[in-house]
Amino acid sequence: MKILIIGGVAGGAGAAARLRRLSETDEIIMFEKTPYISYANCGLPYYIGGVIEDREDLLVQTVEGLSERFNLDIRVNSEVLSIDKDKRIVTVKNLLSGKEYIESYDKLVLSPGANAIIPPIENVETVNNVFTLKTVPDTDAIFNYINDNKVKKAVVVGGGFIGVETAENLVERGIDVTLIDFMDQVIAGPADFEMAQYLHSELTANGVTLILSDLVSKISKDGKQVFTKNGVTIDTDLIIMSVGIRPATEIADKAGLDLHEKTKAILVNDNFLTSDKNIYAVGDAIMQKNTLGKEAMIPLAWGANRQARQVADAIHGKTIKKDIIRGANALKVFEKTFASVGLTEKAAKAEDLNYDVIYATRGNHAGYYPGATPIVLKLIFNNKTGEIYGAQGIGNDGVEKRIDVISTAMKFGGKATDLSSIEICYAPPFNSAKDPVNILGYIAENVMADVYKTVQYHEIDDIIKSGGTLVDVRTVGEFEYGHIGDCGLLPLDEIRENTDMLPKDKSAPLYVTCQVGHRAYVAIQILKNIGYTNLYNLTGGYGLYKTATTVFK
Ligand code: FAD
Repeated sequence: MKILIIGGVAGGAGAAARLRRLSETDEIIMFEKTPYISYANCGLPYYIGGVIEDREDLLVQTVEGLSERFNLDIRVNSEVLSIDKDKRIVTVKNLLSGKEYIESYDKLVLSPGANAIIPPIENVETVNNVFTLKTVPDTDAIFNYINDNKVKKAVVVGGGFIGVETAENLVERGIDVTLIDFMDQVIAGPADFEMAQYLHSELTANGVTLILSDLVSKISKDGKQVFTKNGVTIDTDLIIMSVGIRPATEIADKAGLDLHEKTKAILVNDNFLTSDKNIYAVGDAIMQKNTLGKEAMIPLAWGANRQARQVADAIHGKTIKKDIIRGANALKVFEKTFASVGLTEKAAKAEDLNYDVIYATRGNHAGYYPGATPIVLKLIFNNKTGEIYGAQGIGNDGVEKRIDVISTAMKFGGKATDLSSIEICYAPPFNSAKDPVNILGYIAENVMADVYKTVQYHEIDDIIKSGGTLVDVRTVGEFEYGHIGDCGLLPLDEIRENTDMLPKDKSAPLYVTCQVGHRAYVAIQILKNIGYTNLYNLTGGYGLYKTATTVFK
C-alpha cells in the first residue's frame, strides 16, 4: 500500500510512525511545508520567553532520526498544492527548488492543522513588526526581531491560550506587554468569566496591561502605534496577532471533500474517513465530537496525537471509534494554573441544558503542611441526573490533577455525586484526606438532595436590591475587611445565641454566605434545625464574588 501524509507534526508524524509499526512493507511518504517535522508547537512561547533555552529542544524529532527509525520518506519544504481524488494523486511543490511534481497514493492522510488568522486591520499587512506564532520559523522571526530591535514594548492581540502564553513569555523577556481582547475576558473558550478573573488578576499583578471588550481598529504606518475602537492609543515595538485559527483546508475544499459549512473544518466519520473513501483526516483540521457528542472544532494536541494512532489502525482495518473530545486543557499564567474539561457554563447555557453550578475552594494540600495554596474548582452538572457537563479549576498548584480526575470520571460516565467517592492518593504534601474533588462531590450531593439551593455571584446584588436577606457568617474581622453590599453579619459560632437577629418568616428565602461556602453550609444546617426552610448558599462565597466583581487593568 502507498500512503501519503500531508502535515508532519502532531497528527502527521504520529500517523507515519504508527503506520510503519503496523506494516514493514507499506510505502509511506510524509510532506511538510516548513523545514521542520514533529516540532513542539506547544513549547514555542516558552522559547521566546527564554524558559526553554536551547532551540534544538523544540525539535522533538529530526527528518533523519524519524526516517531512519521508521523507514519513512519524509519531504520537508514540500507543500502539497492540490489533491485529485479521482486520479488519486497529489501535486507537490518543492519550496526550495520551485519544482512541482505529482505523487500517487492508495490512501491519503490529511493532518494539515490550522492557520493563524490575520484580521483585516489597516496596515497589518505592510508593517514589518506584526507576527503570528504557529511554527518554528514564526518563532525564529519573533525571537530575532526582539533581539535585533531591542524590543521594549509589545501588544498582544487576542487573549486565547497562545496570546496569554506569549504575553507571559514577553514579560519574562523584560518587555512591557499590553494584551487586548474583544471579549470581556481572556481564554473565553475554556473558561467562564469569573474563573478568567483570577487570570486577569494574575496578569495585571505581573505588569501586563489588560484591555478587554475592545478591538484593534488600526495600526500606524510604521507599526509603532496600535489604535483601538474605544479610542485607546498604545505605543509599541512589536505586535503579536493571536486572534484565532482557521483549519488549513483550502486544498481539501478544492478537492471537493465535505467540509463543515461554518468552520470549514473537514467532516470525517468514526473511522476518520472523509467524504472520499481513500482520504482520511485528523487533528486541528477536522470537526471533532464534543462533550455532548456534537460536532465542534477542538484544536488541541491530545486529540491530534490520539487520532494519529487511530487513523493508522483504521487504514489497517482495525476497529476504532472517534472519541468524544472534552477539550481537557491546562494553562500556566505566571504563578497560576488554569485547567478545564468539558462545557463551560456559557456553553451549557447556549445549549439550553438544565444545569447547576457549584464551586469548591480548598487547599491544594493539607493546611498544616508548609506552602498550601487554594484551588477554586467549578462544576457544571445536571442537578437531576448528576451528569457532569464540565469543570474548571484555578490555583497555584495541583489544579490540572483535579481536572484530570474529573475528566476521567466524565469519560466513564461518572456523575457529580460520584466525585465524593473517588479514592484519591493522600498524604499531607499532596492534598487532604478529603480532596477538593471529593468536596465538589459532597456539595453536589447536598444540592441534588435539596439540602440547600445555590445562588451565584452575579445574582446576589440584584437579590439584595429587591429586598432579599443575605447573612454573612464569617468573623467580624473578615467582614470588616470586605463584604457584599447590604448584608448582615452573624458569625457562625454566634448563630445559636442570636436567633432573634434572623428574619421572623422562616419560609422566606434566606441567603447565606461566608468566604468560600463551607461555613455557610454549616450555618444552613443550624438554620434548618431551627425551622428555616428556604435556604440558599452563595456558591463560591465572598472570595469568588470579590474576584469576579473586581475590575483588573
Ligand atoms: P499541526 O501540528 O499544526 O501540523 C500541521 C502541519 O501541516 C504544519 O506543520 C503545516 O506546516 C503542515 N501543512 C499544512 N498544510 C500543508 C500542505 N498543504 N503541505 C504540506 N504541509 C502542510 N495544544 C494543546 O493541547 N496544549 C497546548 O499547550 C498547546 N499549545 C500550543 C502552542 C502553540 C504556539 C501552538 C501553535 C499550538 C498549541 N497547541 C496546544 C495546539 C497543538 O499544537 C495542535 O492541536 C496540534 O499540533 C494539532 O496537530 P495537527 O497535526 O492537526 O496540526
